[in-house]
Amino acid sequence: MPEALLTEAIDLAALEEAHSSGAYLKRDLAIARGQGARLFDAEGRAYIDCASGQGSANLGHGHPAVLAALRAQMDELMVCPEMFHNPVRARYQAALCRAAQMPRVFLCNSGAEANEAAIKFARLATGRTGIVSTMRGFHGRTLGALSTTWEKTYRKPFDPLIPGVTFVPYNNIERLAAAVTDETAAIILEPVQGEGGVHPAQEGYLQAVQALARERGALLIVDEVQTGFGRTGYLFAHEHDGILPDLLTVAKSMGGGIPMGACLIGERVGALTPASHGSTFGGNPLACAGGLAVLETLENSDLIARARDLGAQLLAHFRARLPEHAVREVRGRGLMIGIELRGKVAPVLRELQARGVIALPAGSTVLRLLPPLIIEEDDLWRAAAIVEEVLRDAT
Ligand SMILES: *Cc1c(COP(=O)(O)O)cnc(C)c1O
Repeated sequence: MPEALLTEAIDLAALEEAHSSGAYLKRDLAIARGQGARLFDAEGRAYIDCASGQGSANLGHGHPAVLAALRAQMDELMVCPEMFHNPVRARYQAALCRAAQMPRVFLCNSGAEANEAAIKFARLATGRTGIVSTMRGFHGRTLGALSTTWEKTYRKPFDPLIPGVTFVPYNNIERLAAAVTDETAAIILEPVQGEGGVHPAQEGYLQAVQALARERGALLIVDEVQTGFGRTGYLFAHEHDGILPDLLTVAKSMGGGIPMGACLIGERVGALTPASHGSTFGGNPLACAGGLAVLETLENSDLIARARDLGAQLLAHFRARLPEHAVREVRGRGLMIGIELRGKVAPVLRELQARGVIALPAGSTVLRLLPPLIIEEDDLWRAAAIVEEVLRDAT
């Protein structure tokens, strides 16, 4: 790389340090370009992407069907608040509702917003205000969503949050049954806890949660912001458990890279009254076009079944081969994999990056892998070999 460009890259990182909020702990790496499951830094060096933009690029970077749909829609119309009907939104809402087997949807712009909507809708539909959430659960950073997020370091500085939220251990139906009262508007949980360390629901747990919610007159909010759109080997992870949420929240990969979120609304909630909620950009035609391309691509390919198969192979491979001195447990479903380490994950992430693999943490001791579903098998197994190498070398 010419020296002038290299200097420019260093200057730009400093510029970003000087002006960005400071809210993020940044890695020493500038990602300039992505193609498929590869990322390229400012000097053109390639990395295998096992992070997918924190799970927002299940179709990888620059997927041709998504790009074509977005480019065409940009020429047509990008902005159209929901006070008007819009053809691409009509098609997308119908397609998403059919795919999720839920009658209605509220469109928004992020995962936190989707959970805000779900909490408001649960209050409206039940006339109750209590929420039961789970320990290690993550539902976003806005005040309502944050109130249902477990991690104390995220919540504490912002007390008081919304009242009436209690937390119970995940995968424990007795503790949940003891916490749900006739004040409980909703139970909120993830079908596989993501940020909290990649913990899948045990067999039968979500079915028991659904039965409990129905029996007590509370609603079940299933947060699939991270697990949705094929990540776990199902379009939505709760399909694995054979349940139907009352409110289903999604975001991350749904727009093919365009910011987008949604709260799907079940029969037990029904239609909202006009003006009860809203969002200026929610349901904008550009995001809907991206969303439609994502759904069509997932439905007309074997990517979801492939994620299930590859994920199962990868889990078995890691369980057989990763060194016990460094690894406590390997968990996951589909291409959502968590490797619980005996030590801290931060140095492992740095070493992976140095050897050309971008991965994620989930808490301080879990290495999380979320490769794009379109990743070439060669890249996936190369990344797996590098993970093994790094963990063998770890002290
Ligand atoms: C990422 C995430 C959120 C928050 O989504 P944002 O788009 O960052 O607001 C909520 N719930 C889960 C399960 C997530 O993984």
